[in-house]
Amino acid sequence: MTCSRAVFRCFKSLERLGDRITGAAGPYFVGLAVILIGIGTICFFDVVLPGLQWPLISWPLCIIIALNLHMHYFYVCTVPPGFVEDPPRSVPESFLWAKKPQKKRALTSGVSWSAGDSVKITKAEASKCRKCGTRPERTHHCRVCNRCVLKYDHHCPCVGVHNERHFVLFMAYLVLSTFCFSTLGYPYILDALGVNYMREWPHHVPELAYILTYILSVVLCFAVGIMLSYHLWTISKGETTVETHDHEHYSKLANSRGEDFVNSYDLGKIMNLKLFFNIWEGGYSFTTLLLPLRVPPYTDGRHWARRPGYEHHYGLKIGEEFTDEEDEEE
Ligand SMILES: [Zn+2]
Ligand SMILES: [Zn+2]
Repeated sequence: MTCSRAVFRCFKSLERLGDRITGAAGPYFVGLAVILIGIGTICFFDVVLPGLQWPLISWPLCIIIALNLHMHYFYVCTVPPGFVEDPPRSVPESFLWAKKPQKKRALTSGVSWSAGDSVKITKAEASKCRKCGTRPERTHHCRVCNRCVLKYDHHCPCVGVHNERHFVLFMAYLVLSTFCFSTLGYPYILDALGVNYMREWPHHVPELAYILTYILSVVLCFAVGIMLSYHLWTISKGETTVETHDHEHYSKLANSRGEDFVNSYDLGKIMNLKLFFNIWEGGYSFTTLLLPLRVPPYTDGRHWARRPGYEHHYGLKIGEEFTDEEDEEE
C-alpha cells in the first residue's frame, strides 16, 4: 500500500513537472509530436509492413491502427476540453461522429425500457474559483490556460471532460503501434545496422532514420505504457488525476476519525470504465473503441453518475474539500 502511494506521488509530481514544461513549450511540443508520429508511421509502412505475411489482413489492420493514432491525437489537440464558460454542446450530424444505437424498443405497449435508467445521474453541486467564479463540482482551474475546465485532468494539451476519451485512446493506440513497431521491426534493425552484409537496404527511409525511430518507439512503448496503465487505474476508481491526489488526502482525514472515505463517483471498476468511454448501456457501442470516431462524454460536465445511495462523498466534512488555491500553494 505504501509502495503504491509512493508510485502515485511520484507520477503526480512527474505530471506536474510535465504540465509546466508542456505549458511553456506548448505548440512546439505538439508540432514535434506530430512530426515524430508521422516519421514513425512512414518508417513502419515503408520498411516493416510490406514484409508482413497475410497482406489482406495486415494492411487493413495497420491502416486502422494508424488512423486511430493520428485522429485521436488530432482530436485531443483540437477538441476544447470544456471550459466552464462554454455553452453546452450538441452532437452534430457528421461522418466523424459515432452513431448512437437506437433505444431498445418497447417490449409491451406503453412500456419502454433501457438499462441506462439504472444509473443515477444527478446535477453537480456548485463550487467556487477565485478567478472564474461559480463552477460545477469536478471542475478545476488550469494554471496554463488560466481558466476553469470541467473534469480537468491535466494540461498536455488541456484535457477535460470533452477530450479525455480521445486522450486515453490516443495513448492506447500509441502503445499498440509502438509495440507493433518494436516487435515486428526488430529484424530490420540488424539490416539497418549493416550486421547482415549480404543484404542491401532497399527501402526509401534512410537506415539512420529507421534506427533512431526504432529506439524512440521502444522507449515510448515502455513510458506511455506506464502512463496509460496509471490513467486506466485512476479511471477504474472513478477519479481524475487531480482527484486521485485529493481523495488520498480525504482518506487520511476520514481514517483519522475512524471513518472510511467513499468516492461517490465510484460505481465499480467496470462501470467506471464503461462510463468514461461512454460504452455503458445508455451510451455507444463497444466497437467505437476500435474506430477513429468522435464520441461525446456521457455527461455535459454539469451532471455526474453517483454510486447508488450516495449524494456526496462519504467521510468528508464541509470545508475539508481541497480548493485549487491550496493546490497551488503546495
Ligand atoms: Zn478558475
Ligand atoms: Zn489547460
